[in-house]
Amino acid sequence: HADMAMYQAKAGGRANYQFFDAELARHAYSDLVLESELAQALERGEFELFFQPQVAALGGEQGGALIGAEALLRWRHPTRGLLGPDAFIDVAERHRLMLKLGEWVLRAAALQARDWRERRVAAVPIAVNLSRMQFRLEGFGAAVARVLDEVGIAGECLELELTERMLMDEIASAPATLTALRALGLGVSVDDFGTGYTSLAHLTQLPLDKLKIDQSFVAKLPEDGGAAAITRAIIQMARGLGLHVSAEGVRNSAQRRLLADWGCDELQGELIGPPMAAPDFEQWLRQRRSAFHD
Ligand code: C2E
Ligand code: MG
Ligand code: MG
Ligand code: MG
Repeated sequence: HADMAMYQAKAGGRANYQFFDAELARHAYSDLVLESELAQALERGEFELFFQPQVAALGGEQGGALIGAEALLRWRHPTRGLLGPDAFIDVAERHRLMLKLGEWVLRAAALQARDWRERRVAAVPIAVNLSRMQFRLEGFGAAVARVLDEVGIAGECLELELTERMLMDEIASAPATLTALRALGLGVSVDDFGTGYTSLAHLTQLPLDKLKIDQSFVAKLPEDGGAAAITRAIIQMARGLGLHVSAEGVRNSAQRRLLADWGCDELQGELIGPPMAAPDFEQWLRQRRSAFHD
């Protein structure tokens, strides 16, 4: 691939060749540095999970009861501060480190779910984002079973989020993998729904639990008629298929009201609460419960 780019650059003349050569080298170099930094970070315990609340759509101006939390990966970098997945997940995915990192995320989420149950903070499932590499792994179901067993929790304590793209790319193996995961009691959600290209025929045949409407549609509510039509159609379709449906990136009460009116089950977004470190999440939950007297 790199050779090809260089060949093409060369054909464009000497000056071009040097330009592309340097660009390529810089890219490969920073990739390599980041990869080894990521491996080190994992050993040094610099990764953390943040948790974003998921609540029932009905129940009040800020939604109803807590029904879940999504685990979102963060890297507490020694010099660059707190980094979100956009800063490193692509590189991790390209270099197989994602398998180790993904397993760390799964175990950390399982431990947090156990801790919240033991301390009676909340008995809701924690949703974990899967990488394409994990989902492709042969025996992924068995790997998840091992983590559940080691941590000593039931599958019901976790949910797994996959994208449409991952499902369609692995369409041959997806049904068996999903069946194995659901046999363990785990819920399976399709993340960023509406942005991919899931064949509707496949959608009805895959054992799924939930569709999460992509935040790009929610962000355009209430003004944008097209986004509204798509959002309503996804909600209708999910209900017709007997799937739960959740909306991501809910930022204001006009959006919440529309989504609730249209029959969306769950909400997630800044209106409800941002992704938070575990202690902050617990504090958020205490405040919310005392405000609601529940
Ligand atoms: P996602 O799973 O779709 O997660 C939702 C993203 O939207 C999160 O970004 C969250 O912080 C952000 N968000 C939440 N509420 C709002 C809102 O009201 N407005 C806006 N504009 N954004 C909101 P984050 O944490 O940066 O994660 C980005 C993506 O990285 C995730 O998208 C997910 O695909 C991936 N990711 C996160 N954690 C993991 C992980 O542990 N493993 C893997 N494989 N991927 C992860
Ligand atoms: Mg997600
Ligand atoms: Mg999403
Ligand atoms: Mg996403």
